[in-house]
Amino acid sequence: MRQQVTSAGKSGRCRATSPVSTLHGIWNKPRQMPTSVDTMLSLPGKTTPFADKDEIFQELSFLKPYRNLIHSLVLVGSTAHGAQTVNSDIDIVLITTTRGHEKVCDVLFEKEIEESLSSDENSKFEYTILSSLQTEKLFQISSPFAYSICHGMVFQDDGYLASLCKKRFPLLPEKEYYTTCLYENIATPYYGMLKKLHGEARQRGCTSSCRRKNKGCEGLQSAHVFAKLIMGMFYVTLPSRNMIPLTKGDVVTYAKMAYGSQGENVAKLVVSLMREKRSSFCFDEYKILKKFAVQLFKEILGIIGLGREVREIIADAARIAREDYHLIHNPVTKNCVV
Ligand SMILES: [Zn+2]
Repeated sequence: MRQQVTSAGKSGRCRATSPVSTLHGIWNKPRQMPTSVDTMLSLPGKTTPFADKDEIFQELSFLKPYRNLIHSLVLVGSTAHGAQTVNSDIDIVLITTTRGHEKVCDVLFEKEIEESLSSDENSKFEYTILSSLQTEKLFQISSPFAYSICHGMVFQDDGYLASLCKKRFPLLPEKEYYTTCLYENIATPYYGMLKKLHGEARQRGCTSSCRRKNKGCEGLQSAHVFAKLIMGMFYVTLPSRNMIPLTKGDVVTYAKMAYGSQGENVAKLVVSLMREKRSSFCFDEYKILKKFAVQLFKEILGIIGLGREVREIIADAARIAREDYHLIHNPVTKNCVV
């Protein structure tokens, strides 16, 4: 189960509106638009019927008793656009009513526990639960995720989503989207993962040849968490370049356009780590991803600008990575960690 406000997951309790009042990024100077490219996005027209509709209906039947607690059920991502691969997740967005939110979260949590206890393969279904408040926020900041929901395949809607999608909203995200991404999905995992992976590689003495030479080494851990972080960073840098991806395949295509073959290779590796839910990766993969992650992070800071509040987000993230929990400034962040 995932809950998200922007593009990657984040637990519900720790969501907060990020501070955005003193940004000094692209919004205070003329934005540099790519001259030859208009806003890029995969057109909803490419949606094609897909084969697993029955499978999806059957999977969703456990929600029947809670129908009146749910505004909308939407299939998003590659499966909704006929672009899925064998390893693609089936991504379902659940928009709950205000009074139903907690109950629906509990139901999904129970389901997740049950599935983790059964010996079956990992479920291909990924759920994102949004309260109506969270959904409206997504639309308000023109998150690419809102766009993705509007162009997903709607399985149920009591009119709530239809009315949200009917309102015009700008295609490119508002500045708050970028800061929210940094605060919720990027800063803390960025410093945390770099520290963790660096320490792990040193401790094990990993080198380029470590998998062959040293059979005991199973590679570095948390590969898919690192991949998810980089995916989240693409969801900041690509929209800032007027590209709105709707699927992981789009991310690969646009990464190639934005960063050339190096970006394409990184995006492909990230997608395969996420789809296969691989827990480990070898030193060479880590090196490639790390180099690119550092580059993306710097780009993101350039996009948002280093205003006071952005500096504070980053300082707190670094404090968390160093486990200096008592020094955390933002009370919401502190509450999440401690
Ligand atoms: Zn190793």
